[in-house]
Amino acid sequence: MSDLFQEKPLNRQKILVPFPIDKAYDYAVPEDLNVEEGDYVCVPLGNRSSYGVVWGVGDGDLDSSKIKSVQNVYALPSMPKAHRRFIEWVAQYSCSALGSVLKMALSVPAAFEPPKSMTGYVLEHNIPDKISIKQKQVLDIAKDGVPRRASDLAQEAGVTSGVIKTLAKNGVLKTVEIYEAPPCQNPDPDYGEIELFEAQREAGTQIVEAVKNADFQPFLLDGVTGSGKTEVYFEAVAEALRQDKQVLILLPEIALSNAFIERFKAHFGCLPALWHSGVSPAKRRVTWRGVALGACKVVVGARSALFLPFKDLGLIVVDEEHDGSYKQEEGVIYHARDMAVVRAHLGGFPIVLVSATPSLETIHNVNEGRYQRLVLPSRFGGAVLPDIHVIDLKKDKPERQAFLSPVLIEAVRTALENKTQALLFLNRRGYAPLTVCRTCGHRFECPRCTAWLVEHRRNCKLHCHHCGYMLPLPEKCPECEDVDSLAPCGPGVERIHEEIALHFPEARLMVLSSDTAQDHEALCKALDDIVHHECDIIIGTQILAKGHHFPHLSCVGVVDADLGLHGGDLRAAERSYQLLHQVAGRAGREKGNQGSVYLQSYHPESRVIEALSSGDREYFLEIEAQERQAAHMPPYSRLVAVIVKSLEEEKMQEFAQTLAKTAPHHERVKTYGPAPAPIYRIRGFYRTRFLVHADKEVNVQEVVKTWIKSIKCPSHIKIQIDIDPQSFL
Ligand code: ADP
Ligand code: ZN
Repeated sequence: MSDLFQEKPLNRQKILVPFPIDKAYDYAVPEDLNVEEGDYVCVPLGNRSSYGVVWGVGDGDLDSSKIKSVQNVYALPSMPKAHRRFIEWVAQYSCSALGSVLKMALSVPAAFEPPKSMTGYVLEHNIPDKISIKQKQVLDIAKDGVPRRASDLAQEAGVTSGVIKTLAKNGVLKTVEIYEAPPCQNPDPDYGEIELFEAQREAGTQIVEAVKNADFQPFLLDGVTGSGKTEVYFEAVAEALRQDKQVLILLPEIALSNAFIERFKAHFGCLPALWHSGVSPAKRRVTWRGVALGACKVVVGARSALFLPFKDLGLIVVDEEHDGSYKQEEGVIYHARDMAVVRAHLGGFPIVLVSATPSLETIHNVNEGRYQRLVLPSRFGGAVLPDIHVIDLKKDKPERQAFLSPVLIEAVRTALENKTQALLFLNRRGYAPLTVCRTCGHRFECPRCTAWLVEHRRNCKLHCHHCGYMLPLPEKCPECEDVDSLAPCGPGVERIHEEIALHFPEARLMVLSSDTAQDHEALCKALDDIVHHECDIIIGTQILAKGHHFPHLSCVGVVDADLGLHGGDLRAAERSYQLLHQVAGRAGREKGNQGSVYLQSYHPESRVIEALSSGDREYFLEIEAQERQAAHMPPYSRLVAVIVKSLEEEKMQEFAQTLAKTAPHHERVKTYGPAPAPIYRIRGFYRTRFLVHADKEVNVQEVVKTWIKSIKCPSHIKIQIDIDPQSFL
């Protein structure tokens, strides 16, 4: 037979699109398009178009009459194989749809198109003798030779754009094509090198070697705050740059301060590219594109930066690795620290986890020989760890209706007399966490959540911290209608502010919480003010507990060191310990400025307080690990939370009962629940929880998926699967 009669085989490719589906679909590739795995493409989907990524050769299960064709291929380097495997891995591990994970990587579709060029104006040589004042203003600006758009040039010169047009017509200005500014300059690895001291050098060398050899190797860089950890990992960043590799530095969003960025600049001569919730869409677009093209060398970002499609990544640093904000609790539920280790493994390069209070999971991985621990023993330059004093609130009582003990107030006074700053830490926003009617006992609760309303005096409202519900502060009790009977119970930062202002009417006070620093910019400004000694006493929430460097701070008071100790969740003690250790680490970071920390507690004998005041971290970790092992809890076993939610309480309960009937129970897997979630309602959704507890060897994802898939989920029910849960609320 002749070839003439044979149909030419279709070139088919699988395209994954960013929707909650698990499978890449087959598309035909027109002959004039050249498509390879990992390419970013545009395809028809239903009656619209969608962008997507080529995920492999098509399997031909669709007959050729039904198949649709790829419309367009974007001119970008293809998504690296390691990144595609990473997306698959995350989907598998988190029990999420593949397309949902892809969506996180393609968060800025506008970035696929090359930036449009614009018309800019520059000075031509023939400047006439006679020009108007307005024209002269323009030429004064334009003489630096930088091309500008007509509108920008007019604005800078303080004229209308008509003046620019006339100058162009007369040949005084000429037009050129300009492109938008690149997202970042190239950091220079040899710009601001400093001499490391010995322990730093030893640690640095090991990471640098791994970067050079492109070895997958996880390191834990462990050292107290101020021991010089940042300088060590900057060495590794410099080495990656010398190898022409890209680097990702992950930080908790609120630790992404100006101070950190300035330090980066001092070391590498330019600013890094930033990736966090405060970055504008335009900046996101250039950054995403720069990362994909390999032009952006260093990205400093919050957890979502992990999904950026780096062209040639050679190092990841996860600073403050113990931080709870690395866990994403909505949508695709993942832990950015753990997934970063997977990304490094798939990419074949080292990863550095950095902390003064490493998580128990990470310590466990060190003990099992999976991660290598590098220790920086002491503070750089002789700054010493602060003195820690425990104030027993049963003995050293605050005045009635007050929350600060006389000892703490005296310590603040001493700090101010020495021209230094004091910080009062309380992880509670607002004025008072609960409002009660003294006459009838009525308590104000959120109508949509199982939560008390928190009084905020700043705006005279009661707030729900779970759903944002607000109520103007009532004048009388809605229950018994008594007037002036409502009493605030317990303190929030605003109330501590009120109390301290009575003692120090002259001092400059600052309250810092997510209410007073509502966006990234406001937070950076507040942190700068602290650094530059623009205030004397800071009252703040955990927003202050991160790796900030406050040179004038000498006294830290923890208003309620017991807070969080009785949360009933697995990591309550560990988290309190980390938080307290972090705030304590704020004090006395500068040489010659001995810091003091005061912990107010009703339980000075508790393990966390004891471990903190002794400074014996190893002891604390050991006891904590023993307890977890005895209880067969992570990291010695695995947990998965399955949360069932619905607006209709009865239907939720009914469905939970159905699920319970087939819940996995084997020798190595136990399922607990359904139990009402501690916060039973959020935003009107009723919530009930299952907890699957399995041996480490069990493929718990498979177990849970099989279980959930065995029952059809009605549309009014939502199921959330949380692997390795951090929150049990
Ligand atoms: P950490 O990251 O452990 O909290 P840093 O890296 O921030 O510690 O170091 C604390 C302070 O010491 C910073 O101001 C830093 O610039 C300084 N520092 C650290 N190592 C050196 C060094 N080898 N030479 C000079 N200054 C250093
Ligand atoms: Zn609410």
